[in-house]
Amino acid sequence: MTTQSYPPLALLIDGTWVAGGGRETRPVANPASAETFAELPIATLADIDAAGEAAARAFRSWRRVPAIERASLLLSIARLVRRDEARLSAILTREQGKRLPEALQEVRGSADTFEWMAEEGKRAYGRIVPARTPDTDQLVYVEPVGPVAAFSPWNFPAVLGARKVATALAAGCTVVLKPAEETPGIWVALAALCVEAGLPPGVLNLVYGVPAEVSSRLIANPRIRKISFTGSVAVGRHLAVQAAAVSKRATLELGGHAPVIVTGDVDVDRVVELTAAAKFRNAGQLCLCPTRFYVHDDVHDRFVARLGARAAALRVGDGADPATDMGPLASSRRVEAMRAFCADAVDRGGRVVSGGKVPAGRDAGWFWAPTVIADVPDDARAMVEEPFGPLALVSRYSRLDDAIERANSTEYGLAAYAFTRSLNDARAIEHGVEAGNVSINTFAVSAPEMPFSGVKSSGPGSEMGREGLLDHLHPKAVVRALA
Ligand code: NAD
Repeated sequence: MTTQSYPPLALLIDGTWVAGGGRETRPVANPASAETFAELPIATLADIDAAGEAAARAFRSWRRVPAIERASLLLSIARLVRRDEARLSAILTREQGKRLPEALQEVRGSADTFEWMAEEGKRAYGRIVPARTPDTDQLVYVEPVGPVAAFSPWNFPAVLGARKVATALAAGCTVVLKPAEETPGIWVALAALCVEAGLPPGVLNLVYGVPAEVSSRLIANPRIRKISFTGSVAVGRHLAVQAAAVSKRATLELGGHAPVIVTGDVDVDRVVELTAAAKFRNAGQLCLCPTRFYVHDDVHDRFVARLGARAAALRVGDGADPATDMGPLASSRRVEAMRAFCADAVDRGGRVVSGGKVPAGRDAGWFWAPTVIADVPDDARAMVEEPFGPLALVSRYSRLDDAIERANSTEYGLAAYAFTRSLNDARAIEHGVEAGNVSINTFAVSAPEMPFSGVKSSGPGSEMGREGLLDHLHPKAVVRALA
């Protein structure tokens, strides 16, 4: 990638790009080398307030733009994203670390998201309710909730930001987006495409800063009417408390700890192939990542041996290198987390089948080997806390009821998977697992047209699908009688 293709980093406030002016900066590094290659300007309190004001001002007109015109603008954004997909993917790989083909897939997913929400925004229907008295109309309008403060994470910075922005804009809301400071370039580039598509000033504002300062300032701002956050349980709960204190809606997606139940009748080789692709995608830094594998006694040993061999064969390296199968972790924090999770699992009797360490020759950058650990006890830290990294934790079961109960044993409830040829087992799992997303015989999950939500600590609210749009609308009940 040429240096020109990484955008000059700046904040976007009321249609103006803002940087310099004595603002503090923080470094942006390439996870494959740990080398700093850019400096990100940090928003001042005045910048954060100005972004909130701009979103409030722009909301007055944006909410009145006919849905069909908003849709055509969102479709233009999607077209520009597709036009620039190679450049956008290179930005993503450089600052986040994922393999270029994965970055391309994510960029295309972002375009899909803008397209789907463009269409769904046209279907923000109200209702006519049979009235209680003659010559009276009882109507339900749906109206945009108002300016949204959105906080998106570093693992899928393009598409998770796109979900928040596309949905808000389709509903007629305006946005202040704070993407993760670790991966700022992709949204600078995407916001520039929104401007190029003709999005009016203030409809989308982009700020980076000290995360706790930006979020508390925006949540307290009376002009902001809703918050949307994707990230950890700890931070999400903190923001939810702040939002509740000022009676604001919150959509929270707080991660997962997905179980995978593998019954005794499966084609083990096929399941292992699918598992290696899904588990080590984005180096396991995925809220939907399959993590706890409950494998039936009949196929357990073969599954462990094959998955261990498959993981050991993966080439770990720079995501920009076409020979790489798995890229680095996004930050040194994640490497230290993997070290601690693996040490704890081994202390408690887990058996490392593959990985469990920094791969040979990968001390520069933030790498961890694709790891398979068998015989992991249910109380190991990695079985309880979201590992958010390339750890596959395998244990055996003999009765399906027990496997379902253990699948439900964490505080999370985002995604769950199962592989089985038995319709009865599939049905028992679909109904028995506590999760917002369940996939049987596939790791395919989450699409713009499907609601994406969690249960338990994975967080309230829905993104995408019809439900995601409804989360940005409030019903206004109108009773109109003849004068
Ligand atoms: P971290 O908690 O330091 O940072 C996580 C992200 O949250 C950062 O991008 C940061 O900007 C943001 N953040 C932190 N405090 C905030 C605040 N007060 N207001 C607004 N944003 C704030 O640690 P980390 O190592 O980057 O990630 C830790 C854990 O976060 C992971 O183990 C994973 O469980 C979770 N996570 C989940 C998702 C997801 O898709 N659900 C994405 C990223 C991280």
